[in-house]
Amino acid sequence: MIQVKNLTKKYGNHLAVDDISFQVKKGHIYGLLGPNGAGKSTTMNIITGYIAPTSGSVTIDGHIMGQDTLEAKKCIGYLSEIPPLYPDMFVKEYLDFVAKLKKTAKEGRVKEIEDVMERTGLTDVANRLIKNLSKGYKQRVGIAQALLGNPQIIILDEPTVGLDPEQIIEIRTLIKSLKKDHTIILSSHILSEISAVCDDVLMIAKGKVVAMDTTENILKMNKSGQNLAITVKGNASKASEVLKNLKCIESYELVSEKDGQASFNIIAKDSEEDIREEISFALSDARILIIEMNASKASLEDVYLDILQDCREEEEAEAEAVEADNDDKADDAEEMDSIVWSESEDDDVEEGGEE
Ligand code: ADP
Ligand code: MG
Repeated sequence: MIQVKNLTKKYGNHLAVDDISFQVKKGHIYGLLGPNGAGKSTTMNIITGYIAPTSGSVTIDGHIMGQDTLEAKKCIGYLSEIPPLYPDMFVKEYLDFVAKLKKTAKEGRVKEIEDVMERTGLTDVANRLIKNLSKGYKQRVGIAQALLGNPQIIILDEPTVGLDPEQIIEIRTLIKSLKKDHTIILSSHILSEISAVCDDVLMIAKGKVVAMDTTENILKMNKSGQNLAITVKGNASKASEVLKNLKCIESYELVSEKDGQASFNIIAKDSEEDIREEISFALSDARILIIEMNASKASLEDVYLDILQDCREEEEAEAEAVEADNDDKADDAEEMDSIVWSESEDDDVEEGGEE
């Protein structure tokens, strides 16, 4: 349905989008996840034909953006980061205005607007001024205008930003309900948003793709695998002896030992395998009673933080390499500067912070 190939966008010297490629299948909800400044809005503005890429191509249902632009744009309904709402218009009046702009068929227009208002839960506020609506309702109006003309693809840039928790759930439910008739791309810097709504995730940072897979697979990517917290009766060393010899365990650590109980955190070797059975049998063979056992899967958040951390480390390594290079070339005056710097940094060093 959507093909994005080697998309690159430079603003002056700044590379905002760096060689991004992906495909979106019909009927899927595709999530663009990344921190602020990652290049999500830029990517969406290119896909929707609002701005041109520096290089690369976007094909929408066979129409090449930039060549077959009108046809390509007709396939897309877009809710941009700042929705183009007119506060002094009534909801219905505004939607009628947008329908005319989109040149939707004149006959059936009234019915279409009514349908769209019904789907987005706006019927009751049809005759209210947009400026008097809550943020959640304003966002519904934004989504409603994207739906006009019944485009196959809906693109939503951070659709729940600034909403309260209840409104977020309402908008998410609305987005999910659109899936049956539309292909959707959604951006967010919030992980739970993506994992709750999207089938596929494209994670970007600093304009680059850092991960791309189904939401399900991304969740499996966690390096630390499946975690298990157990508490057993008795002293730690006896249980430790058992855990040490189990092949399904990657590593384990003693968390606490008190009141005749010992608690361990266990990491499985294979994140897919359920190791609870093996552990409980082994412990009961050794006549050790398990008091508590909790399995926890990695959340998308862990994975996201892992990936961002990796990016940051890479960046720091690069920066250090550049710095080392510059240091070689530095003259005496600059060296003096850096000495002053490192002295002032010393003030921040905490000494004897560890017990
Ligand atoms: P996101 O939506 O993920 O927060 P954006 O696509 O808005 O990220 O921005 C990506 C990068 O490009 C940022 O560093 C931003 O400052 C820069 N940028 C965005 N728009 C422009 C512009 N019109 N001119 C110059 N730089 C821009
Ligand atoms: Mg943005």
